[in-house]
Amino acid sequence: MTPLECARLLEGRSNAEREAAVGRWLEARGVPVARHRFSLPEGAGENLAVELGTGDRVLVLCAHHDAVPGSPGANDNAAAVGVLLHLLTRAAAPSGLRVRLLFTACEERDYLGARAWVRDRGVAGLVGVLSLELVGIGDSVVVWDAVEESPFLGRVRGALEGLGLRADTGYHVVGRIPRFGSDHRAFAAAGVPAYGLTLVPAASAVALRRFVFHPRRSALRFLVRRPAPFHTYHTPRDRAETLEPPALAAAGRALEAIIARVGAEPGGGPLRGAAVSHRPPSGVS
Ligand SMILES: [Zn+2]
Repeated sequence: MTPLECARLLEGRSNAEREAAVGRWLEARGVPVARHRFSLPEGAGENLAVELGTGDRVLVLCAHHDAVPGSPGANDNAAAVGVLLHLLTRAAAPSGLRVRLLFTACEERDYLGARAWVRDRGVAGLVGVLSLELVGIGDSVVVWDAVEESPFLGRVRGALEGLGLRADTGYHVVGRIPRFGSDHRAFAAAGVPAYGLTLVPAASAVALRRFVFHPRRSALRFLVRRPAPFHTYHTPRDRAETLEPPALAAAGRALEAIIARVGAEPGGGPLRGAAVSHRPPSGVS
């Protein structure tokens, strides 16, 4: 099953159906699933976790299975679920690394599911967390909410460069993004290096930086048409037809490279890579 076919199992369905679809897919393949049901005043749902490999070091890859009401939720976030399900069928975790694929509920309610998971299951052994959001449109990888350097972030950069991607074109590492958020923030709040991972069209990178870092100033400019991939975000237009198979494939390749790199370089080690810039690039206002 391709990532797109996996994503279609969730697209356009209710949150209860999306959650059930992930569980059914995993069980049909005989994968042991850890189910974590939570019920809080703000909402209730079920997180599902599966693991690849063994070891004390754990890399968490998150994709929320819920969507906002009124949106088919293809790029947000069935695409990410599809990429992780597909990864499960082909990736082997390197020895000494456990890769936990975590499918969360209620991300759209201030990442409630991820917060419940961290509260109940803790963060012992976690070397890093990536939360996949909007990975179905574009050709350039963005690692976001990278507020400070960490050994994990150095490995993520190393993995992406190992794929031939170049900083600020093939991939971008950016600081904290205002207004938007995702599951990784629940882990970051507990002290784990944790970032968002999104794909964007390289052609709209400059417009995107303006859009996400200056939301108020850009509100008028983007009133009619927001830059991709935000043109469908949280709208009825977020349909599977808009997903790009090459984007889904690129996200999968990035994750496989990151898994290999994190597995190959155990231990904390010195911080590597360039400092994260908190300033928007020159020429952007
Ligand atoms: Zn989302």
